[in-house]
Amino acid sequence: MKLILLGAAGSGKGTMAKKISADFKVPQISTGDMFREIAKQGGTLGEKVKKLMASGSLIPNEITFEVLKKRLEKDDCKNGFILDGFPRSLDQAEMLKNVTDVDAVISIELPFSELEKRLVNRRICSFCGDIDNVSYEGYTGDCRKCGKKLFQRDDDKPEAIKNRLEVYKKSVTPLINFYGDKVMTVSSAGSPEETYAPVKTFLSKLEAKA
Ligand SMILES: [Zn+2]
Repeated sequence: MKLILLGAAGSGKGTMAKKISADFKVPQISTGDMFREIAKQGGTLGEKVKKLMASGSLIPNEITFEVLKKRLEKDDCKNGFILDGFPRSLDQAEMLKNVTDVDAVISIELPFSELEKRLVNRRICSFCGDIDNVSYEGYTGDCRKCGKKLFQRDDDKPEAIKNRLEVYKKSVTPLINFYGDKVMTVSSAGSPEETYAPVKTFLSKLEAKA
């Protein structure tokens, strides 16, 4: 089963990918993990990726595809894969088409009001990086691990969240059009289990057909 998983930050995409991976025995492939892995392995390509990562530059599409192609040739991908957060643009989708076909695209949607609710109460410790939430029981404003003051990241303020979501929507709409009837859209407004249930049913049917 060859899948693409799309979803904004905070949509529960990572949790969904793990559930699919466990139930359908396919690896979860994120470009970040893939780059870190190849950089560790070294070689011409690995060294190139390592340099780009160290300088904080975006990895060009051509290199991404070389790395992706290698990753998809590995043994654990023989039953398929889940591409987590990739492709991000039409360019990448068209290049991916030259490497492999896909069976389905799961697009996780979360209304802004929900995303805001989840992120706006998030607080982080500037000292140890621990994450807490104002709505959690026992929240005091001090870090539970090291006792330092917690703060709200600029990224988690409503204006920034709105902006992030708009940027995401702009990039995902052409992808949804590109994949057409392969796309299954699911709302993640409920619990992770509620979100996953229809996806599991959909994928089980897809698997039975194959
Ligand atoms: Zn701390």
